[in-house]
Amino acid sequence: MKYVIIGNSYAGLSCADAIRRFDKSGEVVIISDENYRAYARPLISYYLEGKTTDETIWYKEDDYYEKNDFKFMPGKKVVSVDTVSKKVVLEDGVKLDYDKLFIGPGGTPFIPPTEGFNPDSPMMGTFTKFDDAKKMEKAAKLAKRKEAIVVGGGLIGLKASEGLRALGLHTTIVELLPRVLGLALDEISGNITSKRLNENGIDTATGETVTKINLDESGNPVSVILKSGKELPADIVVVGVGVRPNVGFLEGSGIKIDRGIIVDKTMMTSVKDVYAGGDAVVIYDIINKRPNIIAIVPLACEEGRVAGTNMAGVYREYPGGMGLNSVEIYGLPIVTIGLTNPANESQKVYIFQDENVYRKLVYDGEVLVGAILLGDISGSGILSAIIRQGLKCLKYKDEFLNGNIYSFVIDNEFEIYNINEGYALRGDFEDLPEFSRTNWR
Ligand SMILES: Cc1cc2nc3c(=O)[nH]c(=O)nc-3n(C[C@H](O)[C@H](O)[C@H](O)COP(=O)(O)OP(=O)(O)OC[C@H]3O[C@@H](n4cnc5c(N)ncnc54)[C@H](O)[C@@H]3O)c2cc1C
Repeated sequence: MKYVIIGNSYAGLSCADAIRRFDKSGEVVIISDENYRAYARPLISYYLEGKTTDETIWYKEDDYYEKNDFKFMPGKKVVSVDTVSKKVVLEDGVKLDYDKLFIGPGGTPFIPPTEGFNPDSPMMGTFTKFDDAKKMEKAAKLAKRKEAIVVGGGLIGLKASEGLRALGLHTTIVELLPRVLGLALDEISGNITSKRLNENGIDTATGETVTKINLDESGNPVSVILKSGKELPADIVVVGVGVRPNVGFLEGSGIKIDRGIIVDKTMMTSVKDVYAGGDAVVIYDIINKRPNIIAIVPLACEEGRVAGTNMAGVYREYPGGMGLNSVEIYGLPIVTIGLTNPANESQKVYIFQDENVYRKLVYDGEVLVGAILLGDISGSGILSAIIRQGLKCLKYKDEFLNGNIYSFVIDNEFEIYNINEGYALRGDFEDLPEFSRTNWR
């Protein structure tokens, strides 16, 4: 059996590991258009900050590919897939046969139309790859006035800003929504986060966008013009507004795409023997109860794992996923889970707030469907397990709000053991053998 995997990251390698678990001898080829072995993508901003290095950014051990007998092809871009003759076509014209194919190409940065933006300038770029971080490291050294503009106040924009700030640049985040992390946070938590950024030398221009970048004679930025007409100095402009599924190369393959790659519960695409996972796929959002693209590491891993298991001939279903983010901004820990802003009037919100802590729970009837934890994120593992399971737990809201979550039996359905033990267990083992235990550390 010959397996080909497009994408050497969380989804692709989780798929490869699952294949190898059940098929010890099949040929596994992993293709990447990047020139590195797998690295931890969320750490690229830590690389700028100096918190991780060329030595420590790697996601897998040095001998990972050899040890697992994977053939790794770095620096090779797949330009098309022929699902009739079962071939993957590379940019250099080479064609690779497959029996089973996994597609995990992640996302490609979305660049809103902005006059003057040129990603080929050494002082402008996006921020999703290790090479992007290396480029910004060089740009920071060239920046004479030490002024950086980051377009986008989501997770990628915030991390890029922290990285640039650590290199000594005065950084301004320009965000179209009224707050940073606008989709995950609400007004109060967004304001607390902005304040923390501002106190650490990162300005936030919310409800704004960059309409034009003024360039010098070499085509590098001098300043940006905002929607409001305000002009801000800029040596560096980074666009980090988010990613879109990287699916252009699948055109003509017959694989069904609707915003992202459409998959069934086994993570198989509309074409037999072709599977997909990670940021490029549309999955079932278990909280919003609709198809959605949720671009986070844990889901990419889970989807890759389910796909690989099925590809190796062992049946598994993927139940879907939910949004879950954990980030720390200058010592301010933030966790967002599921639905963080009510979608209709029947959903109720409960809040605990003091000077340093904000904890918000969103309930749909008796069922907890989302949470924002800021400042004090204790119990976040338990809460995400409860939200994922869709448990009725309104009567425990006060304990959840004050963060003192230890041991519970909720409606005889769920037991949660002491937080120090580091795991949550569902009462009924037989039902959900794979998801019964949830580690949060
Ligand atoms: C700065 C930053 C910070 C983040 N922080 C967090 C965080 O704190 N928590 C979290 O959960 N998530 C975070 N994310 C998101 C997380 O990195 C992604 O969800 C995750 O990497 C998705 O994994 P993936 O395997 O689907 O795709 P990716 O990691 O995007 O990898 C896809 C790979 O496929 C390659 N590829 C694409 N097309 C082709 C082709 N045609 N031929 C060959 N190779 C191809 C790409 O170059 C890439 O190497 C962050 C992302 C960024 C950029």
